Amino acid sequence: MSDATPAPTSVPTRGRSSAPRRATVVVVGAGQAGLSAAHHLARRGFGSALDDPDPDGDAAHTLVVLDADDRPGGAWQHRWESLHMGTVNGIFDLPGMPLPPVDPDEPSRDAVPRYFAAYEERARLPIVRPVRVTAVRAVDDDPGGDLLVETTAGTWLTRAVVNATGTWNTPVVPDLPGRELFAGLQRHSRDYRRASDFTGRRVAIVGGGISAVQLLEEVSRVATTLWYTRREPVFLDHDFTQSLDGVDVERRVAADAAEGRPPASIVSYTGLGWTSYAVQARRRGVLTRRPMFTALGPHHVVEADGSSTSVDAVIWATGFRADLDHLDPLRLRGPLGGVPLVGTRARADERVHLIGYGPSQSTVGANRAGRAAAVALVQRLGAGTGAARR
Ligand SMILES: Cc1cc2nc3c(=O)[nH]c(=O)nc-3n(C[C@H](O)[C@H](O)[C@H](O)COP(=O)(O)OP(=O)(O)OC[C@H]3O[C@@H](n4cnc5c(N)ncnc54)[C@H](O)[C@@H]3O)c2cc1C
Repeated sequence: MSDATPAPTSVPTRGRSSAPRRATVVVVGAGQAGLSAAHHLARRGFGSALDDPDPDGDAAHTLVVLDADDRPGGAWQHRWESLHMGTVNGIFDLPGMPLPPVDPDEPSRDAVPRYFAAYEERARLPIVRPVRVTAVRAVDDDPGGDLLVETTAGTWLTRAVVNATGTWNTPVVPDLPGRELFAGLQRHSRDYRRASDFTGRRVAIVGGGISAVQLLEEVSRVATTLWYTRREPVFLDHDFTQSLDGVDVERRVAADAAEGRPPASIVSYTGLGWTSYAVQARRRGVLTRRPMFTALGPHHVVEADGSSTSVDAVIWATGFRADLDHLDPLRLRGPLGGVPLVGTRARADERVHLIGYGPSQSTVGANRAGRAAAVALVQRLGAGTGAARR
């Protein structure tokens, strides 16, 4: 990268009361998707908005990344201890810097944030944290006019927002009758830490995805487990990563996103892979699925056939939804509940791109979407002068 690339990270923001600062593009979120977008914008000449000598003007093309976490790593820094580098599905390199060799037994919550931190430092991306974006709204009725980005640390005026906020902050739990009556332990996979928290219990594990199978396998070593899914899980007879990268899957997910269907999990398109956890769970006889229960009582679940089964803990491995509420003032959602897209751009507003959303909900997808958003923004706004194009 040339000397003209943006300035170092973690520069203090102005206080809430001061006038808005200006950046040509505001990237919201510094996970894999946000870092990819920032990298590709920087490569196309977008300099640091933190260095802009004319912060109230928009003379050069500038960029800022606002991230709600207080350290690098995106959602990886929050994942449970037993999700190790050797057992994740495969983490793609960030653009321009390979993941250094890692110990397969190291938790991804340590290894990935360390890699992201090194990446941010080397790329000198203009990231400010912790800053949560609370709302994005149009300044006036001009569809090509400025957007106002409101945050926990002041406001920004911008010509475009690249939203890369992931899903980690918006876990989904089914709204079943009696859930509030349940007297045992309830945890979403987001808040799961370790199997030993469930030692000796009777645990209902809910969900048909990769996380549910992993948690089933490890919790069943210390507890009695009952696995509940809405549908019969479909296990693939080939490698999961082949499906993940498969053109057909990508095309179907992209078509749903374009139409504005709320993004479903990638596994709902691909089917489940025979991960080492799934193989172990099958071998140990615990990969036995029950149809989803219909209600909870204080110490039991009500089975689909109406009978009761006593449980004293429930793990909801029931997934996440896109974290987009701060975009609500822009009314981007379509009648199906999702945000209809054209490529990575919101169909209803050419100033907003969504990445790490729909077809780009994986590390490889996030990489590609970050690049696609940068290319589209350069087409709309022109390239900057801050760095050599690539
Ligand atoms: C348990 C689990 C395991 C996974 N394993 C794999 C795997 O093995 N391989 C793979 O390819 N994919 C995997 N994925 C998916 C993958 O992690 C993500 O798709 C990928 O990391 C893309 O991340 P992202 O940048 O979209 O979001 P995130 O990593 O969630 O980053 C979002 C960032 O946005 C910030 N943010 C959120 N809201 C705001 C706001 N309002 N204002 C400012 N900042 C905000 C957050 O602080 C965070 O830093 C897994 C997902 C889960 C849940």
